[in-house]
Amino acid sequence: MSKVLIVGAGGVGRVVAHKCAQMRDVFGEVWLASRTKSKCDRISAETGGVIKTAQVDADNSAELSSLIKKTGAQLVINVALPYQDLSIMDACLDAGVHYIDTANYEPPDVPHFEYSWQWAYDDKFKKAGLMAVLGSGFDPGVTNMYCAYAQKHLFDEINYVDILDCNAGDHGLPFATNFNPEINIREITAKGRYWQKGEWIETEPLQLRCDFNYPEVGVKPSYLLYHEELESLCKNLKGLERIRFWMTFGDKYLNCLRVLEAVGMTSIKPINIKGVQIEPLEFLKAVLPDPASLGPLTKGKTNIGCIFDGLKDGKRRKVYIYNVCVHEECYKEVKSQAISYTTGVPAASSARLIATGTWKGAGVFNMEQLDPDPFLETVSRFGLPFNVAELDPEDSYGLPK
Ligand code: NDP
Repeated sequence: MSKVLIVGAGGVGRVVAHKCAQMRDVFGEVWLASRTKSKCDRISAETGGVIKTAQVDADNSAELSSLIKKTGAQLVINVALPYQDLSIMDACLDAGVHYIDTANYEPPDVPHFEYSWQWAYDDKFKKAGLMAVLGSGFDPGVTNMYCAYAQKHLFDEINYVDILDCNAGDHGLPFATNFNPEINIREITAKGRYWQKGEWIETEPLQLRCDFNYPEVGVKPSYLLYHEELESLCKNLKGLERIRFWMTFGDKYLNCLRVLEAVGMTSIKPINIKGVQIEPLEFLKAVLPDPASLGPLTKGKTNIGCIFDGLKDGKRRKVYIYNVCVHEECYKEVKSQAISYTTGVPAASSARLIATGTWKGAGVFNMEQLDPDPFLETVSRFGLPFNVAELDPEDSYGLPK
């Protein structure tokens, strides 16, 4: 039986903890450690106390490494914040355990959304005979695996990919982000970017919009954003000519965001208030609702998936692979809304595949470099089934050509 250590007890950490607790056939012991231990204890109580808890500062890799050794865990699931990725990878190397995360490393000062720092760990993980699996949430994560599945089973060559992320959930609050506000706002206020024929094409923030009809949800305005999975997918898909990422935002949300931006509240440049250096975005995070508190309030569905356009047996083919998740059902099961749920289930599923030896290897992997079949089978079994729809190759479905 394996032992697993989850780091981070936020919205996603709660789901990962619940899911690992449901995988007791594989995980003999589940540990949850975070900066605030009381949050871990609360989650452990929800699972009937089967989870062991600890306090840790994951920015301190020596402290985390001794905790890993103390727990006897063979793998760490990092669902703290992207700022901790490198110190947690260092701790895993020091303690000799596998590593999984859901978001690329971010330096605290400048938003980058790039894998370079973590890819640079490839040799270290190879030498140690350990796996580091990057971006095992929904997007990145499941979307990468829809790509790997399409490449393995449905296409000889994939030429165009559009990743479509729709959250049609409503929490009834004037403004709240459904995962960590700092990361969410950094993502939306950055310039848009997509990859075409070997080049990155930049757009102004939220410049490109399309109206897409999401199955089980309806038509929603969707905006082109840069999203981290584009960086690895453009390298790993054969015959790719273009890959783009779209996310839905309601008008109310965007209006609030524009006001916050206009008054400087989304800046990450520290300002001096009464002798204290404060980052406006960090301050904003402190006054916004905690994403974990949105669970009981959020109603409605998410729909996240990918449209592939390519060749199969010499003919054009268009296929849409997607998942629909219901906020209220997620809350009923694990006391979290669907955004945390759709991130936590894939993270726990990857851990299961490493723990059972289904995935083997050494080095740093993006999800699409691993076998998608056992992964999609596992996420389906633990709450995220997927649909495969054949589309008309001649129809653009509202997406710009
Ligand atoms: P939260 O802010 O809700 O939770 C983060 C948790 O990490 C908190 O419990 C926090 O502790 C803890 N933490 C922060 N810093 C440290 C530290 N130095 N040491 C120990 N613990 C620390 O975030 P979410 O749960 O919403 O998101 C978790 C991760 O998942 C993020 O990296 C996010 O980017 C990613 N994500 C990925 C998605 C995907 O689809 N791939 C989608 C959504 C999120 P405290 O409680 O004390 O603040």
